[in-house]
Amino acid sequence: MLFNFYKKEISRKKIEYLGFNIKKIRSRKKFIIIKDEKNIEYKAKKVILAAGPETFNLLDKKYNLLNIFQGVGIALETNSQKRKKKEFKDYFVRTVSSIGTGCGFHFLQRDNQNAYVGAGNYLVSINKKSQNRLETAYWLTKFYKKLVTSRKFYKDHFDIVKGSRARAIDDFAMIGELKKEKRIFIATGLGRTGVSISPKISNYIYLWHQGKKNKVLKFFAPDRKPNSFGTISEAKSYYIESIYSALKIHEMIKNDSDKLKKKLALQFDKKIKALNKKFRNYKTTLNPNFYHLI
Ligand SMILES: Cc1cc2nc3c(=O)[nH]c(=O)nc-3n(C[C@H](O)[C@H](O)[C@H](O)COP(=O)(O)OP(=O)(O)OC[C@H]3O[C@@H](n4cnc5c(N)ncnc54)[C@H](O)[C@@H]3O)c2cc1C
Repeated sequence: MLFNFYKKEISRKKIEYLGFNIKKIRSRKKFIIIKDEKNIEYKAKKVILAAGPETFNLLDKKYNLLNIFQGVGIALETNSQKRKKKEFKDYFVRTVSSIGTGCGFHFLQRDNQNAYVGAGNYLVSINKKSQNRLETAYWLTKFYKKLVTSRKFYKDHFDIVKGSRARAIDDFAMIGELKKEKRIFIATGLGRTGVSISPKISNYIYLWHQGKKNKVLKFFAPDRKPNSFGTISEAKSYYIESIYSALKIHEMIKNDSDKLKKKLALQFDKKIKALNKKFRNYKTTLNPNFYHLI
């Protein structure tokens, strides 16, 4: 119902909603051409392109869009819980990893019956099919049993929900017009913050539509060179801590281990050496979250 209202509203403003799969978007002198999956072409004066990780595939390489990866997120939805009395709150979070790569357990009561239990995260390239990961389902149900339900057996029923979080190679959002085509506005790479920051992005789109410049967006330009992570030693300690905490939250290490941290440090040095060989003269420190995918 809300969407119907929205469609009516935008058509009043002469913006057309095209509810189908887009194959390619390219620019011509007078118009932007949008080609759908049946190869039918549509013309537009301006385009807002916000197709999650797929954004990368819809544009020609000549626009130099930053590389995008997908962070696959898996969560559970339940409608038949019997909750632990002591422990229970409407919303709570348990995590040891608040940083980039990590999964984190959170529980959200939607109403008397329904609850959301999230969420895992693993990274793949955009052209890989995202699938439900057994380890995540196992880990979420394990924590659910530990923290939420009072049932001895898993009588609780779940649906598994999956989504893809678009993540730019430097892990900052990609928001703004293209340098080579100012009539196309990109909004993607929002990772795990897209819902929270969408009102702000709407404001930016509104300003762009009015032809106003926005200095803030330079940092987030979709066709920028990757923003630096920081110093190499900052990247190294992040690399060690994020992998270590991911192993910890999945209970793959029981006791703290300096030996493992040393092993991860050596692994980092090896990876940096390989990256330096691959990207000669590259000055920016790349984000360690993506070293295994570059
Ligand atoms: C499990 C999970 C939990 C999350 N929790 C939070 C949270 O608590 N808070 C928060 O702020 N964010 C959260 N996020 C992140 C948030 O969902 C994303 O940042 C946000 O959805 C990104 O919005 P988007 O519009 O850029 O992309 P998407 O929501 O991915 O939307 C892209 C749309 O483009 C469409 N599309 C793709 N290709 C084409 C094509 N060729 N033609 C036509 N349409 C196409 C897709 O069908 C989709 O509808 C979570 C994500 C996941 C996966």
